[in-house]
This record gives sequence, C-alpha cells and structure tokens, in this order.
Amino acid sequence: MTIKIFNTINKKKEIFEPVNRDKVYMYVCGPTVYSHPHIGNARAAMVPDILFRVLKKKYKDVIYIRNITDVDDKISDAAYKENKTVYDISNKYIDIYQNNMSSLNILDPTHQPRVTDNMSAIIKTITKIIENGSAYLSEGHVIFDTSKYNNYGELSKRSLDDMIDGARVDIASYKKSPRDFILWKPSTDKQPGWDSPWGLGRPGWHIECTSMIKNIIGDDSTLDIHGGGNDLIFPHHENEIAQGSCMSSAKYCNYWFHNGIVLVNKKKMSKSLGNVILVDDLLKNHDSGTIRLALLSAHYRKPLNWSDSTIKDAGNLLKKFKSIAKSDVNIDLSKDLENDITDILSDDLNTPEAIKFLSSLAKSAKHNKEDFAKLVLSAKFIGLNLQHDDKSILNTNIDVKLIERLIQERLEARQEGNYEKADKIREKLLSMKIYIKD
Ligand SMILES: [Zn+2]
Repeated sequence: MTIKIFNTINKKKEIFEPVNRDKVYMYVCGPTVYSHPHIGNARAAMVPDILFRVLKKKYKDVIYIRNITDVDDKISDAAYKENKTVYDISNKYIDIYQNNMSSLNILDPTHQPRVTDNMSAIIKTITKIIENGSAYLSEGHVIFDTSKYNNYGELSKRSLDDMIDGARVDIASYKKSPRDFILWKPSTDKQPGWDSPWGLGRPGWHIECTSMIKNIIGDDSTLDIHGGGNDLIFPHHENEIAQGSCMSSAKYCNYWFHNGIVLVNKKKMSKSLGNVILVDDLLKNHDSGTIRLALLSAHYRKPLNWSDSTIKDAGNLLKKFKSIAKSDVNIDLSKDLENDITDILSDDLNTPEAIKFLSSLAKSAKHNKEDFAKLVLSAKFIGLNLQHDDKSILNTNIDVKLIERLIQERLEARQEGNYEKADKIREKLLSMKIYIKD
C-alpha cells in the first residue's frame, strides 16, 4: 500500500514516507472556541479524519495532534458579550465542538492540547527564538524578525509585496517590517494574561501551534504531516515554518496538506450574508451519516459547494446503501476486504472515487456475498455504519455535563419566573432528544 498526498510546499502529489516507520506524527490546526462549529469547521476535521484512518491502516503508531485555541481576542469578545468569563466561553464551545465532531463519527485525535495548558512550552519556544537572534523586543511585544529567515515565503510562494498585503495588518509602530509578526503581546488586567520574561501577556496565534508540536515531537524532530484549511497557508503556516526553522536545526515539516473551503450555494459562508450552516442545526434534521457522506462528496482539495441537493443526494445514497446492508448475510471477516477502498483513498484521499466504488458495490452486493461484506466494511472504513441507526451513535455521545447544566439553568429560569427562557431551554433539550417532565 503506497500512500500519496499532494504536498502544498512542492505543489505536487508525492509518495508519503515518514521520518520513522514505526511512528507517524500528524498535526492539524484545530478550532478557536468561541462559537458553534459550522460545516467549514466540520470539513476541516473530516479531511484529516480520513487521512488518519488511512495512515492507521498502514502504520502501527499514528500520533494525530489537533490543538484547541482557547486564548484569542474573539473569545474575549464573546465573553464580554455573554457576560461570562473567558474560560466559561472556551469550555462551553469545546464541549459543543467535541460533541459535534463525535456525532459525525470523526475519530478523536491522539492529543488535543489546549493553549492555556501550554504556556510554559510557548514561553520556552519564544525564548529559544530570541536567543537565536530571530526575534526582537519592541514596545512590550516580542516580534519575529522575518528578515532572519531566508526562505520566508517558501510555502505560499508569495512575493514580498503580496505578503505585506496578505498580512492584513496595519503597519504597527512596533514592527520593523509589516510582514514581521507577534510572538508575545502585552495584556491589560482586563485581558487574559500570563507572567513571562517580557511581562504579563499572551501569545500570538502562530507560535501556539509550533510550540505544541515541538512539545510533543521534541524540538529537534521533524513533523511528518501538517494540515489545515487552505486559508491557513498564509500567513499562519508560513509563519510556523519560519519560527520552527529558527528555533531548531531540524526541518520543520515534510508534508503539508490543505483542504478547500465550503461554499453555500456557490457563495462564501459569512455572518453578514446569513448563510452560515451550523453542524448543530444539520444534526437536528439529518442522519449524521448523511452529513458525513455529503462532506466527503467533493475532493478535499477542491471547494465543496453545499446546497439543498448536496444533502438530499447524500441522504438518498445512504438510504440505498442501508437498505442493501440490512439483508441478513453473515460477513466473513477472515479476508481483508478493505483493501480496495484503502487503495482508492491512498491516492490523495480520493473520497469521490471511494463513494463511486461503494455505489458499484451496492449494485453487485445483492447477488454476491463477498461484495455485500465489502460494501459494509468499506463504508465502515470511511466512517459510515450501514447496519446501525446513526441516531444511536448520537445518543451514545450525550454530554451529561451540558445536559445537567441546561436543566439547572431551566430550573433557575422557572424560579425567577422567566418562563420564556425556560421554554427555550426545554426546546434545546428536546432537540437533543432529552424530554423533561415537571
Ligand atoms: Zn495552527
């Protein structure tokens, strides 16, 4: 089995060879937790989930790391708006994120480091970059000096002018060059802050990922695979390479893979257009397998255009697969029947081809026992359980803490005579299949 992935840094499909055959390290930029996950977030977790499954088929030990950004000005803003603490907000949305992803049968990564648990690692990485002469102190900030890294721009292949435009920042007085970026910034006492050699402050976004990667794989090791949405190529991943290469002599990462965006009726999803589709809302109306199949329907590098027909077609296809898989046929598990689907997916995660393959099996499965077993097991390989009702998957992922908190909040609302709020909470619980009887 040969795994090929399109490597963004070399702009071509390459055969994947890990640094160490016994242990593969993959890192993917995870969510910033301040709101409900939308289908773009789900796709960004679904694509590496397929790669994780393929890698696990070939390699004994696959370490998949997906971080949680729980320090960010957007989280502080949400806390201010909801009159809660930053931790209330991040904990709430971490719960919702984890629940949504497991409802979609996305496997848990091996590690899910949180930024707030990694401050000492972040401070250590910044210290190393300063010691190596690649960062400077300015007006309470620690700034990465991009002129100290000769290959800056190697991932995004951007010219200096493009990079300055792309950085989308005002030319700040504390930066020598507009493309330089923040490693550490000062916090006021109203903002979350940690003690550091540079005063009370918090990290810039890019340094989080580099520090958490190095904290797990070791400063002088090379990461095998780094993934994320292609909107992260510049400046986020470009800056990660620069930081990582200036704090260690090891190559930062060998393979970069990026997924395309999700469009809704061919338009970019945005709050202002009011076309953001939340995973929570989809789960209320659709089988989780249907959503999964819809998210896998386009090749991961292309944009996925979401429309009513995307989910409708996926629902019809899944129904067809399930009606065939219901038949009472014993599955012979002695043969490795997943080889064909893993071969298809090994070629740069070709999920549209994998779905076509399932459709062809669905035709022959009615008359052929082996194809029947192959259909069930191949679907299972991509996370679709044809012989079980997906709603049962939902129920096993009940978040007890969240439910208890909602029940308590509803009780308090009733005691205060706020029946409107109490009813809203009851409706929310109902949508989670929790029925309350007073
Ligand atoms: Zn990242």
